[in-house]
Amino acid sequence: MTISPATLAAFRADIADISCVDDPKTIGLKSRDYYWYSPILKDQLDGKTGQLVVQPRSEAEVIAVAAAAARHKVPLTVRGGGTGNYGQCVPMEGGVILELTKLDQIIDIQPGRVICAAGARIEKVEQAVAQTGQMLSMFPSTKRLATIGGFIAGGSGGIGSLRHGMLRDGGNIDYIRVVTVDLIPDIIELRGVDILQVQHAYGTNGIITALDYALVPATDWLHAAALFDGYDAALNFAVAAQDSGLDSYLMTVVERRFSRFYKRLADYFPADRDAVFSMVAPDSIADFVALVAAHGGRISLQKSLNDLEDANLPPGWECGWNHTTLQALKLEPARWTYLQVAYPRPFDPALVLRQMQRYGEEMLMHHEMARMDGEVQIFALPLLLWTNRARTYDIIAEMETLDGCTIFDPHVITIEDGGMKEIDQAQIDFKKRADPYGLMNPGKTRAWTADMARR
Ligand SMILES: Cc1cc2nc3c(=O)[nH]c(=O)nc-3n(C[C@H](O)[C@H](O)[C@H](O)COP(=O)(O)OP(=O)(O)OC[C@H]3O[C@@H](n4cnc5c(N)ncnc54)[C@H](O)[C@@H]3O)c2cc1C
Repeated sequence: MTISPATLAAFRADIADISCVDDPKTIGLKSRDYYWYSPILKDQLDGKTGQLVVQPRSEAEVIAVAAAAARHKVPLTVRGGGTGNYGQCVPMEGGVILELTKLDQIIDIQPGRVICAAGARIEKVEQAVAQTGQMLSMFPSTKRLATIGGFIAGGSGGIGSLRHGMLRDGGNIDYIRVVTVDLIPDIIELRGVDILQVQHAYGTNGIITALDYALVPATDWLHAAALFDGYDAALNFAVAAQDSGLDSYLMTVVERRFSRFYKRLADYFPADRDAVFSMVAPDSIADFVALVAAHGGRISLQKSLNDLEDANLPPGWECGWNHTTLQALKLEPARWTYLQVAYPRPFDPALVLRQMQRYGEEMLMHHEMARMDGEVQIFALPLLLWTNRARTYDIIAEMETLDGCTIFDPHVITIEDGGMKEIDQAQIDFKKRADPYGLMNPGKTRAWTADMARR
C-alpha cells in the first residue's frame, strides 16, 4: 500500500521549503534498519520502502510536515540513526520517512541535565556534556550513529544500565516534547511517569522534538577484560561483583566460543577462556582485580579509553549488548541470529549451564549485568544458530516454560509482540491524541486498528 503520485506531489507542495530527498537509492537506504539480524524479519521486510525522505532542521519545520501529513493522509515513519533491530524504521505502507538527524541542537546543559533536540546523535551530546565534566547516565552501544530521540523511542537500556537502570525506570529522562500529527499540530510536554506514554512506542504516537536527559559526573572508566576457565566461573564472578557493590558502568560476560569474532582483541580473549568485559571506576579497580583473582581468573586487559584508542582496541561498550551479536554477524552473517532473554530473579548460574548443555552448538552464551526496578537484573543476548522459524520458536517456548525466562522476541515488528509483551493502554490513549489519523509508523502496534482513526 503506497500513496499516489498526486497525493505525494500535493504533500510536497505544502512543505516546499523543507529539505527532501527523492532519489530511490537514498530512499531505499533510509527505509532500512538492523532488522537483518533476524532472518524472519528479513523475509518479512526486505523490499519495503518509503516514497520520500524529509529532513526538517527545526521544530517549526517538523510541525509543517506533521500538518501536511495529516492534511493529505500520508503515512509518516520517523527515523533517527536507523540502528533499531526490529524494523522499527521500515515503512510498512510507503509514505514519508521523517529523518530527524538535522534537528540536532544542544539547547542547554546544567548540572545533572542536558536539554537537546531529539535528532542529536548521542555521541555529539556526549561530547558537549563532557565539556562540563559530565556524562550521560546511560547510552546504547550504537551511540556513534544513534540519536537520543531514537534511543528513547526505540531503545530500552544499555551501557550504564548497570548503574542507572533501564530507560523505563525513571530518573533518566525528565521531560519530553512531542509534536502531534494533526491538521493543526499541537505541542505536548510530558514529565515524570507521563513520559512512559511515548517511551518505547516506536514512533507510533507523536514526534519527539526535544528532551531532557540525565547526566552524572564524568568518570574515566577503566576498560578491562578478565578471563576465567569456565563460563560458570565468569558468571559467578559477575554476580559477586554486583553483590559487592563494585562501581562499574558495564559488565558483559561472553563465552569462549565468541573469541573468534573478537578479532581486534585476539591477544586478550583467547579461545580457551571465557571473558568478562567491564568498565570499572578507578576507585573500584583494586577491588575488581582482587575479586577476579578470588574467582580464579586473571586480568588480560586494563586500559583507559585514551590508551585503548592509542592501541587501536575497541572500547568496552563495543564488546557488549548488541555489539556482541554484531561481531558474530559480521563474520558469519547467514549462520547466526539471536535472542533477548531476561532471567528470573534471583539469578542462578546453574540454569545457564543447563541451557548450554541443552542447546550445545546451537547457542553461544552472552550475558549482561543490568539494574531494573532498582534491582540487579541479568539479561542475555545469546547467539542462536539459524535453522528455521519453527526451531527458533521451539527454543523460545522451552526457555520460557522450562526455565522461567522472559524472551523479548527480536523476530517481530510490533511493540506488543516484542519487548512490551502486552498492550500499553496509556500509549494507545496517547496515540488517539497525538496521531488521531493513525498515520505514524503503521503496522508497528497491534493495539491500533483502522476503525480507531478519526475520519
Ligand atoms: C549493534 C547494535 C547495538 C545496539 N545496542 C543497543 C543497546 O545497548 N541498547 C538499546 O536499547 N538498543 C540497542 N540497539 C538498538 C538501537 O541501536 C537503539 O535502540 C538506538 O538507540 C536507536 O536509535 P536510532 O536513532 O538509531 O533510532 P531509530 O532506529 O532511527 O528509531 C528507533 C525507533 O524510534 C522511532 N523514532 C526515532 N526518532 C524518533 C523521534 N524523534 N520521535 C518519535 N519516534 C522516533 C523510530 O520511528 C523507530 O521506531 C542496538 C542496535 C545495534 C544494531
